[in-house]
Amino acid sequence: MTRLTAGGIAPSTGRSTRNWRKVKKEFRAKSAELNSRCGICHQTIDYSITNTTDEMVYETDHIYARSKADNIRISEDPAGLQASHRHCNRKRGNSPLKVSLGRPSEAW
Ligand SMILES: [Zn+2]
Repeated sequence: MTRLTAGGIAPSTGRSTRNWRKVKKEFRAKSAELNSRCGICHQTIDYSITNTTDEMVYETDHIYARSKADNIRISEDPAGLQASHRHCNRKRGNSPLKVSLGRPSEAW
């Protein structure tokens, strides 16, 4: 049985799929357009940096650590992604993250 997503595209099964590359590319383009800040350190990102070994280069970050996203559809969902600096992303690794939805509300 083949399940289709709303877009009519069969869910992918691999980890490094063409779909993921596409999602990442589109997410980067969108982040650059919105000039999104790093979701980890909240500083601006220089989207003109293209050297992928540069510490401050843009990198797509998974809000949910990939090792914990056992469902590939979660890890490829743009809603689970955020812009980040390469070095912030590396530093954080797979440690749990407070999801950044803007300013936290006052103590509940
Ligand atoms: Zn950062």
